[in-house]
Amino acid sequence: MSVPNGPTRTQTILDNMVGVGDCVLLDPVTEDAFVDNLLLRFRAKDVYTYIGNVVVSVNPYQSLPLYGDKKIDEYRGRNLYELPPHIYAISDDAYRSMRDKNRDQCIIITGESGAGKTEASKIVMQYVAAVSGKGKDIDEVKEQLLQSNPVLEAFGNAKTLRNDNSSRFGKYMDMEFDFKGDPVGGVITNYLLEKSRVIDQSPKERNFHMFYQLLSGAPSLLLEELMLDRDAEKYNFLNQSGCINVDTIDDKKDFAVTQKAMQVLGFSDEEILGIYKLLAAILKLGNIQFECYTEKSGMEAVKILQEKEMIEICDLLDCEPNDILQSLTKRSMMGGKGDKVVTSLDPSHAVYGRNAVCKAIYARLFEWIIKTINESIRVKAKTKRKVMGVLDIYGFEIFQNNSFEQFIINYCNEKLQQIFIELTLKEEQDEYVQEGIEWTHIEYFNNAVICDLIEKNNKGILAMLDDECLRPGTVTDITFLNKLNSSPFIANQKFYESRTKMKSDKSILHHCFRVKHYAGDVTYNVNGFIDKNNDLLFRDLSQAMYKCDHLLLKLLFPEGNPEQYSKKRPPTAGYQFKNSIAELMKNLLAKNPNYIRCIKPNDFKKPDTYDETIIRHQVRYLGLMENVRVRRAGYAFRQPYELCLQRYKMLCPRTWPNWNGTLKNGVTEILIHNRIPTAEFSFGRTKIFIRSPRTLFDLEEWRRR
Ligand code: ATP
Ligand code: MG
Repeated sequence: MSVPNGPTRTQTILDNMVGVGDCVLLDPVTEDAFVDNLLLRFRAKDVYTYIGNVVVSVNPYQSLPLYGDKKIDEYRGRNLYELPPHIYAISDDAYRSMRDKNRDQCIIITGESGAGKTEASKIVMQYVAAVSGKGKDIDEVKEQLLQSNPVLEAFGNAKTLRNDNSSRFGKYMDMEFDFKGDPVGGVITNYLLEKSRVIDQSPKERNFHMFYQLLSGAPSLLLEELMLDRDAEKYNFLNQSGCINVDTIDDKKDFAVTQKAMQVLGFSDEEILGIYKLLAAILKLGNIQFECYTEKSGMEAVKILQEKEMIEICDLLDCEPNDILQSLTKRSMMGGKGDKVVTSLDPSHAVYGRNAVCKAIYARLFEWIIKTINESIRVKAKTKRKVMGVLDIYGFEIFQNNSFEQFIINYCNEKLQQIFIELTLKEEQDEYVQEGIEWTHIEYFNNAVICDLIEKNNKGILAMLDDECLRPGTVTDITFLNKLNSSPFIANQKFYESRTKMKSDKSILHHCFRVKHYAGDVTYNVNGFIDKNNDLLFRDLSQAMYKCDHLLLKLLFPEGNPEQYSKKRPPTAGYQFKNSIAELMKNLLAKNPNYIRCIKPNDFKKPDTYDETIIRHQVRYLGLMENVRVRRAGYAFRQPYELCLQRYKMLCPRTWPNWNGTLKNGVTEILIHNRIPTAEFSFGRTKIFIRSPRTLFDLEEWRRR
């Protein structure tokens, strides 16, 4: 639906207002009023709106004159509510409170794919870089922090149906500052890269940007060295989805940007070439096909059809052809007496192994790139630091078919919602205590039960999945589902349902379970859960990778070292994710939170187009109404006495034009003179608290007259 021009329900709700900058001031507080307010502001190209100190950002899908040095100067050092809502305003607030009050900050950016999280995180970083100190060393640090973005985006982002530059991993970045507030370095943590994209993409989507950048942007000599063809159509990992060129993306130009950024971050030429060789090897591995044949002994075996490609791969990875060949076509196992038994794979298992090794090389390369960036942005001095973290992580996902990835992502969102509630309430409570104001209890849905359902030790869904992965005997996705359905802890929860779907002939169609998330019900198909959670690579493959003389590759597969061979299984994907999320929560909880809640206005990536249905959906699952209610449960509005006096002193002859008494008494004069009932306000130590938005509207109205 395009933005309507005629009279809408909005007009009746909000009368003559042009939308409120702070939704706490909405009257009545309904979802309709909230959505309409966003619409009004969106039409006026005001894409930012507050809920107290939370910024709601609606993606404009067009370049608006909202950013840049002049705007940054406007917001620098100003109080949050002095100027129209903006990401700059909360960035400034967070930065100053970190610098001046020594409170470590985090900026938590959430929203669905395409809502503008990554753009928002860059706007925050650019703002902080612009307002913090200057000097040769400082500028170098800033440059490195900023240049981490293009590298991470090249390797971790891809064109999807929802977003031409979709982050396929979660990212948390701590920017670290010295006592003066000058940046001294940072640390990046990444979460769960969608590595399946390396081998397979949905129609009209692409592989990770870097593959296309390399093919379009690399000079011919480099391509020759990598034995690559410039034409992406030649590669199975790139040509299956029907999308190679994207209107909004200039791969050639981006290649130069990424390469420059890697240099700024201290990657050596040798390392960069090593990275490209791995990318080239992945593309070539994707073209390898397997065929059955009968060995002289009469045994069935598989062979590789593309010998030339195979030799090139060995060249790129610096290894003995036979090692790779064996690892791709055969499987060795330890027999009962410690002897090695070698069997031939069938073509489908060979393809499975090839794909697994390609995913593993890419995902581990990505991890290594982040580790290397961290090494270069690491704070060298051991002085005490102040920290500002920025979290740009996948939003809640509900698709037609939801799998292990969605389950993990939605679990992460449950945890974020939990700290959102905890911290918003806690912050509210803290402010009341600090200001000496009585606290009123707020009713809210605590999603801790859902988190428990998923993560509880020994009992939750993740624990059941791990149990099943480790159980000897025949383990399948269906035995896992049966396990869930027969666990009293899980099956009896009202937030869990078994959703195995039957066809009309009573045969089973899908094996699913449903979780009633805080943001909505999601049905997960268990197909692939065991495999994805196990995330195992055949040992022959990791050993073959380790044996290569490509130094980086060797580094990426330490478990392939026969001397370090351990019988211990590597931790499962679910277990690792749970731990990294627990770590993240601990980190966030130790900081003062600031929120940016991003909203996507339409599904077509189009400007000036506002689809009420999809906005409403996001407002609901971001829990924004709950947020407004929390903010309003006590006092809708609070303001330091000084600002309140400045703004409304014209409403009282005793305070106009100047007031010589205390700030608090001045504000009292104004309120009494305007006959505001005493039940309507409370005096805090530094701020005035006003209960209902109506009072504020009145004050504003009188001011205008
Ligand atoms: P994903 O979860 O897929 O990574 P995201 O929330 O990070 O999505 P972004 O990549 O930040 O989404 O934004 C998607 C696109 O929307 C951008 O490439 C840009 O075209 C546009 N966009 C986002 N924010 C803004 C903005 N503030 N001004 C102009 N355009 C924007
Ligand atoms: Mg993103």
